[in-house]
Amino acid sequence: MSETEYSRVIIKLSGAALSGNQDYGIDPQFIESIAQEIKDAIATGVEIAIVVGGGNIFRGIAGSAQGMDRATADYMGMLATVMNSLALQDSLETLGLSTRVQTAIAMREVAEPYIRRRAIRHLEKGRVVIFAAGTGNPFFSTDTTAALRAAEIDADAILMAKDVDGIYDSDPEQNPNAVKFKELDYIDVLNRGLGVMDSTAVSLCMDNSIPLVVFGLSKDGNIKRAVLGEKVGTFVK
Ligand code: UDP
Repeated sequence: MSETEYSRVIIKLSGAALSGNQDYGIDPQFIESIAQEIKDAIATGVEIAIVVGGGNIFRGIAGSAQGMDRATADYMGMLATVMNSLALQDSLETLGLSTRVQTAIAMREVAEPYIRRRAIRHLEKGRVVIFAAGTGNPFFSTDTTAALRAAEIDADAILMAKDVDGIYDSDPEQNPNAVKFKELDYIDVLNRGLGVMDSTAVSLCMDNSIPLVVFGLSKDGNIKRAVLGEKVGTFVK
């Protein structure tokens, strides 16, 4: 039984979260620290599914900007998310957690295919389920994947771990006077064009009333705080 605000959440980790201080690829030590936080969070009794991005390895839009066919480049991006998911799975299992990776593109030798009811069953048994390969469709993002999977598995919230500690009215790295929002409506995120999630993902969350918490990964313990429903970062509803 969960002692937390939520009973089932999706944590969205961008690819950049797995590269730590590197510009590219996977930083195993950094992943280990995230895995430890997830272990602490799951100990509270909440069911946790994770959607992992791939931007630390490959983004379809970058490939397409260099002349690649966009759909092909997007498939490469989706494969990048599988590598990240396996790295995270490895770290979580080293810490003794039980996990399953489910891919939206079948690769049965590597991971289970995504099967909604099976994912829910794993969660009920206390396993961490990692959704890999995005939605399986080009022209989408892993943010949209998080929104879609959250709706499918009836998650109570999407917890978006970022390198900034919330949503600001302008880029805090460029503007020292940028103001952080405590709370926002989805429609404001869309109208103001706040780049927290792509608009497809925002619309899906809005249409399905899935709250979103955008918070910074840089502070230790924030994943657990977010899972416990503490006011970290910005709350979007
Ligand atoms: N991608 C896709 N369809 C999806 C999810 C992801 O085509 O449903 C591709 C897309 O090319 C994207 C890449 O996978 O750029 C990596 O995902 P994303 O950019 O969302 O990762 P993040 O920014 O979270 O690291």
